[in-house]
Amino acid sequence: MAQNPHQNALKQLEDVAKKIKLDKEIFEILSKPQRIIMMQIPVKMDSGKMQMFEAYRVEHNNARGPYKGGIRYFPQVDLNEVKALAHWMSLKCAVTGIPMGGGKGGIIVDPHQLSAGELERLSRGYARAAADFLGPKKDVPAPDVYTNAQIMDWMVSEFKKTKEKELGRKLKASEYLPTLTGKSLRGGGSKGRDIATAQGSVFVLEEALKTLKIKKSTVAIQGFGNAGYVAAKILHDKGFKIVAVSDSRKAFYCEDGLDPDKVMKYKEKCGTVGLCDCKAGGSKTCKCSGGCNCQGCKYIPQSQILTLDVDILIPAALENQITGANAGKVKADIILELANGATTPEADAILRRKKIIAIPDILANAGGVTVSYFEWYQNMKNEKWSEDKVARKLSPLMKRSFREVYKLARQYKTDLRTGAGILAVKRLEEAIKKSR
Ligand code: NAD
Repeated sequence: MAQNPHQNALKQLEDVAKKIKLDKEIFEILSKPQRIIMMQIPVKMDSGKMQMFEAYRVEHNNARGPYKGGIRYFPQVDLNEVKALAHWMSLKCAVTGIPMGGGKGGIIVDPHQLSAGELERLSRGYARAAADFLGPKKDVPAPDVYTNAQIMDWMVSEFKKTKEKELGRKLKASEYLPTLTGKSLRGGGSKGRDIATAQGSVFVLEEALKTLKIKKSTVAIQGFGNAGYVAAKILHDKGFKIVAVSDSRKAFYCEDGLDPDKVMKYKEKCGTVGLCDCKAGGSKTCKCSGGCNCQGCKYIPQSQILTLDVDILIPAALENQITGANAGKVKADIILELANGATTPEADAILRRKKIIAIPDILANAGGVTVSYFEWYQNMKNEKWSEDKVARKLSPLMKRSFREVYKLARQYKTDLRTGAGILAVKRLEEAIKKSR
């Protein structure tokens, strides 16, 4: 049976509540989103026919600031998934201490089946339908799975148009630009946002290795999109050995390590992970120049990526990947969760028994929302920070967050996930009580 991510999020909240004897009213408030918006978006397809797309925006909690969280375009998006993702966003913002709440959006669609024009009309339709709920001080979406800077730019432009028509006046830049983050640089985005999630996770990993006084090298990564590819690249440049990567179509293993840029070059040309001109399983119909060395490389079943004998496993695709069914076979010492909700509560119990350290999503991937907050701040103040300044602000914040989580995990004799939950829930409780 498919796991319900919202049930998983609630189970994690219960674990935290038990540990800190959380006030029942606060538990009730945090266990439900404040608002669920369901939309049907009509889109004129290239064929001339109209098609309806079901879409959501879930606003979980805004006691600490405007709702903040990505919009996902995926065929299997469902309300329970979006509720869970919104819940984790509230916790994630609280873990890092940024003044934002939690929200998430999604559209049931496979964007790869749409033309560029259809994708633009769908994205503009979403922004129009949700315009009343969005705004710099209300709800601030960002990209997530299969959405990107171009989609954010379309949405900002449509939000501006809709609001100007409604209000009968021009909006100031600070009234529309900070409504969405993860925009292109030309469209008002922040330098460093494209690499922020992965960069933040590496800062956390480095702090974890330093704190635990351990040295680790080999890495397997599930998911080769924004989060997974950039993490592979940063870790590769720092001397880690990336031995395996996967995406929605294939998984690829190289015993001597692989170069993420070469894998990406192949993916751009051939649509999945692999190595250029690689005869060791490379598709005959897809050749790209580059003359890569394929020795020691092979395609593996996708599920194997999670159970390879590596030091560090990075789930960077979707939720519910490490489950009660496969956690017993995980051989990594550390799991760095770039994907949200990648590990189920049943899997967590098994990982704890096996003394595998899971660095939880709400800490590990919080670099993305943190730089989104930096983008929002720059748009509000009409500032433009250098990439260096962004990294200089992100690094101490992520490292401090790890130390705070680690301290609480030790204090409450629990794992890092519950430690992160305790930190977040305590901060949310304080804000909720103050706002009454
Ligand atoms: P993306 O769309 O750029 O990439 C997703 C990747 O996952 C693609 O390579 C896709 O092929 C792969 N994938 C899909 N199904 C798969 C499967 N069954 N097995 C293996 N790979 C599969 O998305 P992203 O932005 O990189 O997001 C990935 C995860 O990271 C999501 O859980 C997202 O919520 C989380 N996250 C992303 C950000 C961000 O800033 N991008 C921030 C925080 C969390």
